Amino acid sequence: MPSGRVHEAINLSVLGLAAAAYWAYREELALPEPVAVAFVGSYLVGTFLITPDLDLAERRVRSKGRWGWLGWLWVPYGWMFSHRGLSHTWIVGPLTRLLYLGVVGLALGWATLALAGYLRLGFDLRASLRAPPQEVVWALVMGYYTSQWLHLLADGIWPDPIPLGRPRRRR
Ligand SMILES: [Zn+2]
Repeated sequence: MPSGRVHEAINLSVLGLAAAAYWAYREELALPEPVAVAFVGSYLVGTFLITPDLDLAERRVRSKGRWGWLGWLWVPYGWMFSHRGLSHTWIVGPLTRLLYLGVVGLALGWATLALAGYLRLGFDLRASLRAPPQEVVWALVMGYYTSQWLHLLADGIWPDPIPLGRPRRRR
């Protein structure tokens, strides 16, 4: 199976090709800049920082290393998910990492707020957070998922056939 370095090279090559195609058709596409930036940004995050191989985070993994000293945050994820198991599925796999990061982020946020309360520092996190426009949110989701799916394809994992319409019957 491809190493982390190969995965990154594949994802970057595809991004380069997509960027060239986008440039050629930029007038027809007329994509708003924030949407394009959101897509590329979350695609890069999914390529370098949040990869399916974090299911090996109890050991040394390239993407874990890119978190620097924060890499240990992913170790419980490595314990929870076996390599190339649920973490390497098309829909749920990428979601497990987002949910995990969300839970860890909330825990760290609460700890920060509790500490701030203890130290009597008054600040409100919510005031600085505002939801981005819907098309930007979609671009973030698409960018992240595209990066994960390329990883799975490179691992030789194809999507499960989704039963559309009437259920297929085995003959
Ligand atoms: Zn993998």
